[in-house]
Amino acid sequence: MTDITADGQARTAAAGSNPAAPGGGRTVASAVTPAVIARLARGVTADGEGGTADTIAPLTGETLATLPLSTPADVERAFQVARRAQPAWAALPVRRRAAVLLRFHDLLLRRQDEVLDLIQAETGKARLHAFEEVMAVASAARHYGHRAASYLRDRRRGGAIPGLTSAVEARRPKGVIGQISPWNYPFELSVGDALPAFVAGNAVVNKPDTQTALTALWARELFIEAGLPAEVWQIVLGDGPVVGPAVVDRADYVAFTGSTRTGREVAQKAAARLVGASLELGGKNAMLVLADADLDRAAEGAVRACFSSAGQLCISIERLFVHRSVAEDFLARFAERTAALRLGGGLAYGADMGSLVSPRQLETVGRHVDEAVKAGATVVTGGRARPDLGPLFYEPTILDGVTPEMAVCAEETFGPVVSIYRFDTDDEAVAAANATPYGLNSSVWTRNLRRGRAVAARLHTGTVNVNEAYAAAYGSVASPMGGMGDSGLGRRHGAEGILRYTEAQTVAVQRLLPIGPSMGMDDEKFARLFTTGLKAMKAFRLK
Ligand code: NAD
Repeated sequence: MTDITADGQARTAAAGSNPAAPGGGRTVASAVTPAVIARLARGVTADGEGGTADTIAPLTGETLATLPLSTPADVERAFQVARRAQPAWAALPVRRRAAVLLRFHDLLLRRQDEVLDLIQAETGKARLHAFEEVMAVASAARHYGHRAASYLRDRRRGGAIPGLTSAVEARRPKGVIGQISPWNYPFELSVGDALPAFVAGNAVVNKPDTQTALTALWARELFIEAGLPAEVWQIVLGDGPVVGPAVVDRADYVAFTGSTRTGREVAQKAAARLVGASLELGGKNAMLVLADADLDRAAEGAVRACFSSAGQLCISIERLFVHRSVAEDFLARFAERTAALRLGGGLAYGADMGSLVSPRQLETVGRHVDEAVKAGATVVTGGRARPDLGPLFYEPTILDGVTPEMAVCAEETFGPVVSIYRFDTDDEAVAAANATPYGLNSSVWTRNLRRGRAVAARLHTGTVNVNEAYAAAYGSVASPMGGMGDSGLGRRHGAEGILRYTEAQTVAVQRLLPIGPSMGMDDEKFARLFTTGLKAMKAFRLK
């Protein structure tokens, strides 16, 4: 670890290697057996022409699975099968489809250990962080299971001529949704986003990241057990730049989660075909610790904010702004907790942070930290890889003295690295937090909730958490979640999260008289009569 400047005992005391978490007997190889892999791999739409790809177990670096890859012809086949099955699925009453979600919810909670093993095996994250995915998916299944009928029901609207015209706004499924998901929350970002699509009557062709495909395949298997017709959910695998565009080219709507760079490409392709897209993209999220914050709670929250899933979380915090009057006190508490985090990769609860997912992630994290240190930043705690624990472990890292020319200041690191900045006024903190093209999530800590809400209203992010890191807003599944600016377009969760998968259709019925001159009335008389009618409608406050 890089030595730190001696301007605070607490920092020096906090610096040091994170302890290893107790191991636990279960290994990846014992939990994810060749039989499980072979069974799940049968769920991929691939006829063998596309070859195979190996995935690794990040915790050990060993090969985890060899999976079949799909060709563009396989993608075409997946869409054909989904398209054939979708109308019958859409013809079921909403409540029948919603019942499948609620059964899936119960099965998931009962069989969660199976998917926790898979998530840990494929991502290397700690079991507690894998459980966050179970929480998120179960919450979305419950919400849409109970609320879908109300979101989707026909709504009577005011007609063109009161008494003569009746209008109903209906919601029709888009058809086949193309869903492209990343590796970092493989359960939530495959099935979690597919749930509202299914209950709205769509079929889904999903392309998960190959590295985390087993988790998505398990989710599909469980959904089928809950009552989803197998054809309605197709999974294709393969190289992102080849199979991803093949999905976008055929979809009636695209639900993409991933990096801002890829999101732009997806958006352009969807735009050229005039199909809609929701884009859940990257972030450079800020946490603000105001002068009146409860520092212990804020320090504890900062650990969750920055190091859940080893920071490989789109809504995790990478910029931490602290009021100058409490900065040293807060930093001492935060650094002490961070240095005490137990790192490990057993398939059991007990580790506070797991491994990174890939050598590429490890390279980016190491580069951001090393370049910053070389340019004058100081490591408060962490700042180094931990090959003694596994090939891809990196310590949770707090940097101080980060300046704008350092990559870690503005670019998404997507790892367990946070930079500390000090501020003097709320205005200054808000301006600094907003000084990024991203706008995904933010977090504000204060004892004064009115002040917290006021600051939240000024932050340019799709979600703001007051006195929590990210889970309060993300877990409020009845409310929309998504990004502003370079963090994306559209929202998951709540009404927006399901209505994006539907087309609005207005069905209006005209009775007795047409909307035009009739019964011998000349055009001018009609215009005068209608003018009087329009004035009356305003006077009666018709909407
Ligand atoms: P990525 O953009 O590299 O890949 C995401 C998915 O897109 C993968 O399945 C990939 O195979 C596929 N893909 C790659 N090229 C493609 C192309 N040309 N056309 C279509 N699909 C293509 O992102 P990643 O590195 O896997 O994921 C990490 C990123 O995702 C981070 O930036 C993170 O912030 C973001 N993310 C955002 C959210 C959110 O909700 N806003 C959630 C999780 C992750």
